[in-house]
Amino acid sequence: MKVAFFSTKSYDRQSFEEVNVNYNHELTFFDVQLNAKTAVLAAEFPAVCMFVNDIADAATLDILASQGTHLIALRSAGFNTVDLERASELGIKVVRVPAYSPYAVAEHALALILALNRKLYRAYNRVRDDNFSLEGLLGFDLHGCTVGVVGTGKIGMVFAQIIQGLGCSLLGYDAYPNPQFEAIANARYVPLSELLANSDIISLHCPLLSETHHLINAETIAQMKPGMMLINTSRGGLIDTLAVIQGIKSGKIGYLGIDVYEQEDELFFQDLSDTVIQDDTFQLLQSFPNVMITAHQAFFTRDALENIATTTLSNITEFEQGQPLKNEVAYQAPAPTKAGV
Ligand code: NAD
Repeated sequence: MKVAFFSTKSYDRQSFEEVNVNYNHELTFFDVQLNAKTAVLAAEFPAVCMFVNDIADAATLDILASQGTHLIALRSAGFNTVDLERASELGIKVVRVPAYSPYAVAEHALALILALNRKLYRAYNRVRDDNFSLEGLLGFDLHGCTVGVVGTGKIGMVFAQIIQGLGCSLLGYDAYPNPQFEAIANARYVPLSELLANSDIISLHCPLLSETHHLINAETIAQMKPGMMLINTSRGGLIDTLAVIQGIKSGKIGYLGIDVYEQEDELFFQDLSDTVIQDDTFQLLQSFPNVMITAHQAFFTRDALENIATTTLSNITEFEQGQPLKNEVAYQAPAPTKAGV
């Protein structure tokens, strides 16, 4: 099948070309982001492959449908940038890669925790400068800490198991609790307010949905332990960044580690080192000594890339052969209200 890939980098091309030897699809790689302006590039491609910051809103989908696209293959787990309702109306199927390596993301969350706690980014630069002072590098033992896990799905569960191994207690919050979470030693579900009030570290692993948009806001930050550490490797929109900046300034948030940022589509996955960044909020965030930002790299391991390519190409083959789509993201209309029945 002819597939138009958007937002591709050298590593995407390499992993997909290697794995495609087993699938024989016709792959065309574009560097540009998918949106209503670039959708024209996909003319006559029955399948379009997109990544986390590509936009498949109603306007883009209308163009794709009019040009003959029938399948959107996300090479990511998250699908928050696809208008599923419009896709369904247009008869465009949407498939994704629900799991490619929960270990990659969970391990990156741990990397952020360790680097922030022991200030490894500062220590590394100091030693390279022949500055061997320990002033300002004081950390704390993770052993004995309470860690809150918001979202105990695939990634949240791996994260919880890793954290349990460090001797921490775990508090979980999930809209759909998973019995396996409470099978982990020292792990229990609590209401969100209890998790906020009692966690030394909170790590977000739930999807970005209308219910979870700005889950971390002025009100929830006010309930947190003073000096706590907040980690977000999930989606930027889970956090109200301006409220978090206030939380950092007041000392409520003692450490912030993020791999995702609400306005990341303007910044991430490109080299802007010669550019004047126009996003003042991002620049302010970067200026704090207790903030560590990585640019959506949590998924980025060799193993994950190979799994992403294999699942994506296999999703496309299923569609081409008219088989049931194991990894379809189907639109679910909101439940009717009583008045509407
Ligand atoms: P998953 O679907 O296995 O787990 C998500 C969990 O969140 C589920 O247990 C679900 O019940 C829970 N949840 C749903 N609504 C909730 C709510 N309102 N409050 C609390 N919990 C809620 O997903 P996953 O594979 O573990 O991935 C989690 C998220 O990680 C994805 O949605 C994606 O946004 C993000 N992610 C980021 C990267 C990265 O590179 N930074 C890579 C992959 C995934």
